[in-house]
Amino acid sequence: MGREILVLGAGMVGTCTALHLAMRGHSVALVDRGLPGRETSYGNAGIIQREAVSPYAFPRSLAKLAGVALKRGADVNWHLGALPAVAGGLSRYWRNSAPERYAPIAAAYARLIEHSTSEHAPLIAAAGADDLVQRDGYLHVFRDAASFARARRDAEATAARHGLQVHALDGAALAAEEPALTQGLPGALHWQDPWCVSDPGELVARYAAHFQQLGGVLVQGDAATLTATAQGWRVQTTRGPVEAQDAVVALGPWADRLLKPLGYRLPLFVKRGYHRHYTGGPTLRRPVYDLDRGVVIAPMRRGARITTGAEFARQDAPPTPWQLTRAETYARELLDLPHPVEGEPWLGARPCTADMLPVIGAAPRHRGLWFNFGHAHQGFTLGPASGRLLAELMDGRPTMVDAAPYSAQRFG
Ligand SMILES: Cc1cc2nc3c(=O)[nH]c(=O)nc-3n(C[C@H](O)[C@H](O)[C@H](O)COP(=O)(O)OP(=O)(O)OC[C@H]3O[C@@H](n4cnc5c(N)ncnc54)[C@H](O)[C@@H]3O)c2cc1C
Repeated sequence: MGREILVLGAGMVGTCTALHLAMRGHSVALVDRGLPGRETSYGNAGIIQREAVSPYAFPRSLAKLAGVALKRGADVNWHLGALPAVAGGLSRYWRNSAPERYAPIAAAYARLIEHSTSEHAPLIAAAGADDLVQRDGYLHVFRDAASFARARRDAEATAARHGLQVHALDGAALAAEEPALTQGLPGALHWQDPWCVSDPGELVARYAAHFQQLGGVLVQGDAATLTATAQGWRVQTTRGPVEAQDAVVALGPWADRLLKPLGYRLPLFVKRGYHRHYTGGPTLRRPVYDLDRGVVIAPMRRGARITTGAEFARQDAPPTPWQLTRAETYARELLDLPHPVEGEPWLGARPCTADMLPVIGAAPRHRGLWFNFGHAHQGFTLGPASGRLLAELMDGRPTMVDAAPYSAQRFG
């Protein structure tokens, strides 16, 4: 017999959680203050990163740290004023990035990401979203022969260890594969297992529409109104109060705002990121990640989408899109990008944890409350696998992977 369940947040993570719970016969209300997939899950680079077996560690080499401190490249920016607020989370992030701590974290990360494309596949089919998905990987391109050679060695070792496919392309092969790119680059790595989505927000919207076909209810409401009742949980929506035995917090970068009043102090922080689309130039066949500069250019329905790396800032601080301006300059060295589509760049925030692992499982101190957030750089990738894992935990079923590393209990 199914239970009544509220899922708060209709990004990729919440929508997939709601879908998995509905597929298991529960009566699910998916609550968002807006439409599904219009926030972080809209603005990303759209890559289902099957190859991302290691989460983004805090840089440990002096050269890298100097690059971060001096804001070289387009991969990292930081606001001085935000540092005191995020210092605690960042120092834990730094400690967890030390090799001996990082190894078990990366192993737990890899176990989940292994199920990324295989868990998206049935949802894409059921939601009729094949037209949005290209299944032939993406490219890491390099400007410098030495960094290409180093990255190639590392990538081939990673691929061998994890059963992934990566092909190294020399300059001529890259020019043949991606004729729109500037000639003369030393080479690229073609990761073949990832899938690329031409409209990430639309994929979430299709998953949400499928959830409704299964009888799920999509409703607008404010998660901040969540209160405990004698039987479970209640939230206020545009259709009045909705009650359920269980509630799932899947609020991405806004999770902390609900958790703090409930007494949870988890080491969460955000890495902001920008994007803008460009039209009028030649089209790439697949996304290109310029590793030497920290810029992704992804061919999307609206044009070529340039995305930036991490900005350490307060989530609601005004945009400071110099990273995007710099990314645009770098991207134009690789590809002709005549016309920006949006007047102002899009700004979003990756929901991060200090140990780089998402938080999936029961809330430690509240009966019937569940967590699914903190997917950082790969929440678009991990939504279906995390949704399934949480649904299995909520049903008390054997889980697809050991869920212990993702439990909120790990933070004490
Ligand atoms: C520039 C950039 C590029 C990226 N590229 C990739 C990529 O290529 N591949 C990848 O896997 N990941 C990528 N990511 C990361 C990925 O986008 C995120 O990890 C993922 O979208 C997080 O999904 P989510 O469902 O947890 O959060 P969100 O998508 O943000 O969803 C949270 C939802 O909660 C709702 N909400 C918030 N507060 C309330 C409230 N009070 N009441 C009701 N609803 C509320 C919001 O409206 C929103 O719909 C990228 C991120 C950025 C910023």
